Amino acid sequence: MATHVIVGAGLAGGRAAGTLREEGFDGRVILIDAEPHPPYERPPLSKELILGTKEPADARLFPEPFYQDNDIELLLGADVARLVPEERRVELADGASVPADKVLLTTGSRPRPLPVPGADLEGVHHLRTLDDAQAIRAALQDGAALVVVGGGFIGAELASSARALGNRVTMVELDHLPMRRVLGDDIAELLTRHHRERGVRVITQAGVERFEGGGTPGRRVRRVVTTDGQSIPADLVVVGVGVLPNDELAARSGLAVGDGVLVDEYCATSHPDVYAAGDVARHPNPVLGGPVRLEHFQNAQNQGMAAARSMLGKGEPYAQVPWFWSDQYELNIQMSGHPRPTDTVVWRGEPDDMRFTACYLRDGVLVAAIGVNRPRDVRAATGLIAARARPDENLLADTSVDIRRTTPRGES
Ligand code: NAP
Repeated sequence: MATHVIVGAGLAGGRAAGTLREEGFDGRVILIDAEPHPPYERPPLSKELILGTKEPADARLFPEPFYQDNDIELLLGADVARLVPEERRVELADGASVPADKVLLTTGSRPRPLPVPGADLEGVHHLRTLDDAQAIRAALQDGAALVVVGGGFIGAELASSARALGNRVTMVELDHLPMRRVLGDDIAELLTRHHRERGVRVITQAGVERFEGGGTPGRRVRRVVTTDGQSIPADLVVVGVGVLPNDELAARSGLAVGDGVLVDEYCATSHPDVYAAGDVARHPNPVLGGPVRLEHFQNAQNQGMAAARSMLGKGEPYAQVPWFWSDQYELNIQMSGHPRPTDTVVWRGEPDDMRFTACYLRDGVLVAAIGVNRPRDVRAATGLIAARARPDENLLADTSVDIRRTTPRGES
């Protein structure tokens, strides 16, 4: 009987396992992960799980009986040491071997460490796993003062959740605006203002010099000293300064890597029986015109499913327009495509009201859209981006016109 092994039981791995069965694969499916939990979704980790409106069980990707019902073997708490595709097996760290006719790597990414003095003090956290989220939720009780290091999506979403709980929050961001690299100057500035209005102290153009401890025996974080000399009281720190791809297993196994596992449009790696998908995969995206490694929900979910179909010989090139959302306070932020600073921006709606869509045109072609509290606009824009449509700028700016009706007749 053929055996397909999926290494990494996150969103990409879990969806891939489900897809193998949906597509009729009747061999063994083995899903391996070092974490003790069956696959779960990460979006609630910085929001509902912190707020207490969801419990860990609510974050599960599938209900408990799913794995048994679909004959998916979960091998949790297991470390894969090496893939040996020429011998059709993977080797575990404890020396055991698991048969593997085909392997899918969905090993994801891990938080980038912040190598400064005091980074190992108690109360200095990252937020990546269910266990991290629970530890942070517990530490936020009793009005603890939170410092988030990094004003990316972890920092911004956690700041919003902690403010809702009434905690004091300081954000320390290296760049001159949080979220600027992804959302651009104008929208980053609007969102930064929103965080400040909601009571977050935002410190920009500063990193962390050191974390200082106190208490007995002085091992608990008490202050964050920034590179510009400020000393911020902290009962808890969450470091969200980006992630690194977990591509070491692939490299050790002789696969081509380079800031991620290199795959083709079918998610196949440099070995024909090994595939990769999700955060760890560097994939040639035809919409963006080059190889990218995407670190968002949609990519993990849909690329995992696409890779599973490729493993069964039913693959099609994965060519989706990248999309993600982020919820901060009462704001729903969505982005489709990848804007560049040199794109022409057409605004729909009022930026100051925090209800608008910024549409990005490159040589007249719609290449990206960022919406704040306008999810329907972004959904409609995604179709036009995929079709490389050339919308009329005046119609695009008019909120009374549906985005799908902004192109000349005949274009989608
Ligand atoms: P991120 O979104 O890449 O943001 C990291 C932020 O930290 C950036 O603004 C970065 O600035 C800043 N930074 C880097 N080094 C720093 C330092 N030494 N001191 C202070 N700031 C520093 O990463 P993340 O927030 O850690 O999130 C981790 C991953 O999870 C990302 O891939 C993210 O996209 C994903 N995630 C997604 C969502 C969502 O889709 N809604 C939610 C949460 C997390 P520069 O830009 O200047 O480097």
